Amino acid sequence: VVELGMPTRTVLTTCAYCGVGCSFKAELRGDELVRMVPYKDGGANEGHSCVKGRFAFGYASHPDRVLAPRLRESITDEWREVSWEEAISFTARRLREIQAEHGQGAIGAITSSRCTNEEVYVVQKMVRAAFGNNNVDTCARVCHSPTGYGLSQAFGTSAGTQDFASVAEADVVLLIGANPTAAHPVFASRLKQQLRQGTQLIVVDPRRIELVRSPHIQARHHLQLAPGTNVAVVNAMAYVVVTEGLVNDEFVAQRCEGFDEWAEFIARPENSPEAVQEITGVPAAELREAARLYATAGNAAIYYGLGVTEHSQGSTMVMGMANLAMVTGNIGRPGVGVNPLRGQNNVQGSCDMGSFPHELPGYRHVANDDVRSVYEHLWGVPLLNEPGLRIPNMFDSALDGSFRALFVQGEDIAQSDPNTTHVHAALRALDLLVVQDLFVNETAKFAHVLLPGTSFLEKDGTFTNAERRINRVRPVRPARTGKQEWQIICEIAQAMGYPMHYESAAQIMDEIALTTPTFAGVSFEMLDRVGSVQWPCNAAAPDGTPVMHVNGFVRGKGRFVRTDYVPTQERSTRRFPLILTTGRILSQYNVGAQTRRTGNIAWHPRDVLEIHPHDAELRGIHDGDTVTLASRVGQTTMQAQLSDRMPVGVCYTTFHHPESGANVVTTEHSDWATNCPEYKVTAVQVTPANAT
Ligand code: SF4
Repeated sequence: VVELGMPTRTVLTTCAYCGVGCSFKAELRGDELVRMVPYKDGGANEGHSCVKGRFAFGYASHPDRVLAPRLRESITDEWREVSWEEAISFTARRLREIQAEHGQGAIGAITSSRCTNEEVYVVQKMVRAAFGNNNVDTCARVCHSPTGYGLSQAFGTSAGTQDFASVAEADVVLLIGANPTAAHPVFASRLKQQLRQGTQLIVVDPRRIELVRSPHIQARHHLQLAPGTNVAVVNAMAYVVVTEGLVNDEFVAQRCEGFDEWAEFIARPENSPEAVQEITGVPAAELREAARLYATAGNAAIYYGLGVTEHSQGSTMVMGMANLAMVTGNIGRPGVGVNPLRGQNNVQGSCDMGSFPHELPGYRHVANDDVRSVYEHLWGVPLLNEPGLRIPNMFDSALDGSFRALFVQGEDIAQSDPNTTHVHAALRALDLLVVQDLFVNETAKFAHVLLPGTSFLEKDGTFTNAERRINRVRPVRPARTGKQEWQIICEIAQAMGYPMHYESAAQIMDEIALTTPTFAGVSFEMLDRVGSVQWPCNAAAPDGTPVMHVNGFVRGKGRFVRTDYVPTQERSTRRFPLILTTGRILSQYNVGAQTRRTGNIAWHPRDVLEIHPHDAELRGIHDGDTVTLASRVGQTTMQAQLSDRMPVGVCYTTFHHPESGANVVTTEHSDWATNCPEYKVTAVQVTPANAT
């Protein structure tokens, strides 16, 4: 830790890493950040923090930071540093030229879940009002878009049901496809505290994560399922509830609809634990015990992560968990619910702010005339009533020539999105790629314009965490680039001929509150006064809403949805006999752009491939060997690490480092409803590197 002396001032702000959204006091000496101190009154963390939030801020001062705009005519040219005026007028002129030549829909943008609500809001507004289309999507497409779809179908809103504190009242926690000790450490601490006090834990995960067994903690059940079989497992748990008389009849009768039809489906013999055992690999007896434990607990809460969503049945699984919670009455009070653990700091917010191509802010469809007319009146332009392109459609359309220009806000799609060879080809095919980022990331290598972004230490705005908590992000020091990101977006829109101007980030939030019913009571003044608030925050809930669906669901009645298990198309074959699944480690964060540039926590210098000793022995692979990891779409090399955390036949890696670039092997398969990529199931072959 670099300690620079006694601080002379402090600024209260929010961690910019994971979706827990911890509050910190940034202590400064002059303009130098001395240390980040977890804030004891922080609503999400109550004085706790993890290594990333506390120590991983050095990247904001890293010499790799891009501080001035850069331009080049062709991606084979050298970058040229230019003034803001030149960068903005070039960007606006090229966007208009491309639209004139190829049509209004030939351009679009991707928003970032790393940016503030205000920054995201102005990007989607630029697309809708200045570009004149709905070609805006969010990086949440590749992580939690099934959460949005599934929870909306079942409950009527695209968000988790509880506050984090409510885990203290859970008697049983069902943790599915999440590894909080690595990815959401402060929530993991809360959870561990409860587990030590007797809360029972059921883990559903192909990997033996730390919470399955660690000092003082022993999960009651670990359902170590085969990757891609989540839906079969959750259906079998619901089968046990329905067929063993464990249904909460009163809750179902009063609060839900569609039960009879769903119950007829779920009670079919093919959904029984015995029938799915062969598919899932989960012993039927253990699955039955786990289902009974969940159903008979006083309070049973579901927490889940990307191991649920990043599948071809991600949305189905989200609805399956909602079914399980409703049939047992585990919704609408503290200690229960269905709760996504969001990966990035502002995944919830970027979705709330209207980043999806079919939704205006507040999850309201672009085809809704009443909602559209509110924005048309305020923004002074007609808006399209048809959804625009999703991220995968943008890539495909770039390759067929109909999509020609893309603005990417703080997102490294060239490293993070699946089948990177395909992504790189699409980016190369664009006439104009504009990247707004802190660094020359992998995506910027394909860009014509690079607009320097601001780090969280320079931003003024809000992030919304996984429990819908809106936290203030306050500038610790002035923007090193001379401009806030929302100002740059406004200037591009203006240069395109659309008047867009705000005096401050607070004024943007005022517009959000004016047009978005769930944010109607939110303002910077209010947040500065109360600290943070969980939406919905409006006249009906002036103090916010820690627990949702208390007396009724947002959609009225909770809806049971039939969730047929459909096996993924990604199968192991003779050529690719192993299944690869991916995840994260504690000390790194996603593509590693920040953590790799923070020396004091970068103790994992590369990605490794965890492979079971049995599979390794079959291939002549020893611990530490360099291996080739290949799928039908690409291959890479990395170091093998022998591990029995995965079952035989399954291997595991992370994607934090561009050198190994694990997403070169992940495929085009995606969730049927949202196109969220199926990162968690890829058929691969692993061979000693010198054998290929
Ligand atoms: Fe930041 Fe998440 Fe760690 Fe909290 S748990 S300090 S939000 S990375």
